[in-house]
Amino acid sequence: MEGHRARKRFSQNFLHDPGVIERIVDAIDPRPGQHLVEIGPGLGALTGQLVQRAGRITGIEIDRDLAERLRGRFTAGELELVVADALQLDWPQLARSLGGALRVVGNLPYHVSTPLLFGLLPIADQVQDQHFMLQREVVERMAAAPGGKDYGRLSVMLQARYRVERLFHVAAGSFHPAPKVQSSIVRMRPLAAGDLPRIAPQVFAQVVTAAFSQRRKTLRNSLGRLLSEAQIEQANVDPGARAEALDVAAFARLAERVVHVGASQ
Ligand code: SAM
Repeated sequence: MEGHRARKRFSQNFLHDPGVIERIVDAIDPRPGQHLVEIGPGLGALTGQLVQRAGRITGIEIDRDLAERLRGRFTAGELELVVADALQLDWPQLARSLGGALRVVGNLPYHVSTPLLFGLLPIADQVQDQHFMLQREVVERMAAAPGGKDYGRLSVMLQARYRVERLFHVAAGSFHPAPKVQSSIVRMRPLAAGDLPRIAPQVFAQVVTAAFSQRRKTLRNSLGRLLSEAQIEQANVDPGARAEALDVAAFARLAERVVHVGASQ
């Protein structure tokens, strides 16, 4: 940490607890020959062990000062560093250039974690798995089951594409500076092609967004612009239910109906 002042605007909270770092890297279990991509290597707390175990990784870091430090610590053969905003990165191009299933990892900058998760959705079929440190509430929402207050758009959009697994919590004292929020590690494994909803992703997203945009309302109201009450029933969904009661499969049936209605108009 010496000589570097953590930048709030980049959500810089650096891990310093060797036990926690080892536990995270053990959960990732990097192996030589795999295509590891770390978002925000920072001062290299995780990077050191990732490089040690995988031999070579790719890092995406927005902060030029940190990038320079990383270049001083790792050879180009150990860490291929991309100095860029992970939100603006051409992820499909990176996946193509690495030529294999990506293992994406990172102690993510919390202020951009949700857009980053959505930004990675389009390359899920080129990903082996993702391991992230995130704000604990975000992990609860990602992994939530239908029926509870945590279950929402983030849960449905991610669970339609990945198996989401909460791994463990990390105490605020394991970081410097200590974040004001609590943190957890999550594992995401893309679902096999046969388990994915067979539906255009844009239509699926449109239905999920509409249903949760007014989550206290019944589906007959929140989806009124997309489907009539009868059409919601044809999808085998109760128009009097609320979005939070529906599982991913029910959203997929509703999206199918929207496609069907559009095609027959
Ligand atoms: N991996 C380090 C660790 O565990 O100690 C640092 C984690 S710190 C929470 C987040 C890191 O992401 C910082 O290095 C920060 O500069 C970087 N970062 C922030 N926003 C970013 C962005 N949009 N794209 C890429 N890196 C970003």
